[in-house]
Amino acid sequence: MLAASCPIDLDLETDLDPDVKSWLAFSVQKIGELATLGRVLAKGWEEAADVLAASEGAAVTRETSPNVHNENVAKRMAAIDDGMRRRRSSFARRAEVQRARFGLPTFPTTTIGSFPQTAEVRKARAAHARGTMSDAQHEQFLKEQTARAVRRQEDIGLDVLVHGEFERNDMVQYFGEQLSGFAFTKHGWVQSYGSRCVRLPILFGDVSRPKPMAVEWWRYAQSLTKKPLKAMVTGPVTILNWSFVRDDIPRSEACRQIALAIRDEVIDLERSGAMMIQIDEAALREGLPLRKSQCKTYLGWAVDSFRICSSGVADETQIHTHMCYSEFNDIIDAIAAMDVDVISIETSRSKMQLLDAFKSYKYPNEIGPGVYDIHSPRVPDAAEMKNLIALARQRLSDAQLSINPDCGLKTRRWDEVRPALINMVAAARELRAAS
Ligand code: GLN
Ligand code: ZN
Repeated sequence: MLAASCPIDLDLETDLDPDVKSWLAFSVQKIGELATLGRVLAKGWEEAADVLAASEGAAVTRETSPNVHNENVAKRMAAIDDGMRRRRSSFARRAEVQRARFGLPTFPTTTIGSFPQTAEVRKARAAHARGTMSDAQHEQFLKEQTARAVRRQEDIGLDVLVHGEFERNDMVQYFGEQLSGFAFTKHGWVQSYGSRCVRLPILFGDVSRPKPMAVEWWRYAQSLTKKPLKAMVTGPVTILNWSFVRDDIPRSEACRQIALAIRDEVIDLERSGAMMIQIDEAALREGLPLRKSQCKTYLGWAVDSFRICSSGVADETQIHTHMCYSEFNDIIDAIAAMDVDVISIETSRSKMQLLDAFKSYKYPNEIGPGVYDIHSPRVPDAAEMKNLIALARQRLSDAQLSINPDCGLKTRRWDEVRPALINMVAAARELRAAS
């Protein structure tokens, strides 16, 4: 989405590592480079000797910098084998084990991960960033928000809970900040869509994970409830697609490095007791190249990366994924090849037409087609959601279906989310009673 835009001025970035900075150029610097080339063309190389020497020096440090090249990562990349890309058993076998483990009802209800990032949450984050709220105070605040979200989900009657993601500024930034190989800017804004702007992480070096990233928040939230609580991580393809990516190795390789780091996280979550782990791939579809001839290659390494990060767990651990704007008809093979236990997708606005791909293609695993459009403040009633589920049932079997909103709820308000989810749970219960 953003690959074409470029932030304005690198000189504003006073906190970037000087080496990393010397390898980058934003718009102002690129215009400077053009001017240099102009001078060179007009008057010869000597005209720009200093600038060219500095540029050459930066290229050499980048080629040899230990911040860019990590031997351990290279070793792990070389050691990726087919066993790391495959769950231990087939989906049919896993589904059986998981069904026995969780004992969920038909049409189990869940959400996509985030709950409202209220003004209060954003204010606390800003105060923490400014230093007027201490680390301890902020953590306490986030714990209270999380605990309240868990209680609310229990009251609503959802079957599978989430922690709410209150600690996350953004689903990619949150992980990028904890991984080696990423840098962040203060002013590197680029347009995302409309008036929405983001500061993309800069992926400049080999990626590794110094320590667990999402385990503690999951552990805290799960300690508050007996219901299964899905752990949330962002997937490698989405992290890659929503970052500026180094150009000295292929994107596929950078993506597999991230996949190894996320794989470590997924395994740590399982070890800590997480029974369901959702690996969000919101941006997998949007990374599809415009040229048809390149799509197969992209999907090949994107799916491969997903399998690497998701296949290190036991059969009884349920892997979920979530995708936005899922126009699946042309990529349904790739979706199936991800071999994820449960996928949630956006389908409500299209009235389940996005499920057309599933008419002719027998998708084998579980699916949660979104039944509630979270992009609008409107609260759908239970009858409306039941109608959407009825449409989904024309294309998918009851055993395959789970019930969830279209996407994360962070942009909504609690007074919209609560009634909508109550209606969603009512819809699922009514259908259960009738079937
Ligand atoms: N888990 C994320 C959330 O709920 C997923 C967001 C997304 O797909 N864009 O916010
Ligand atoms: Zn989404």
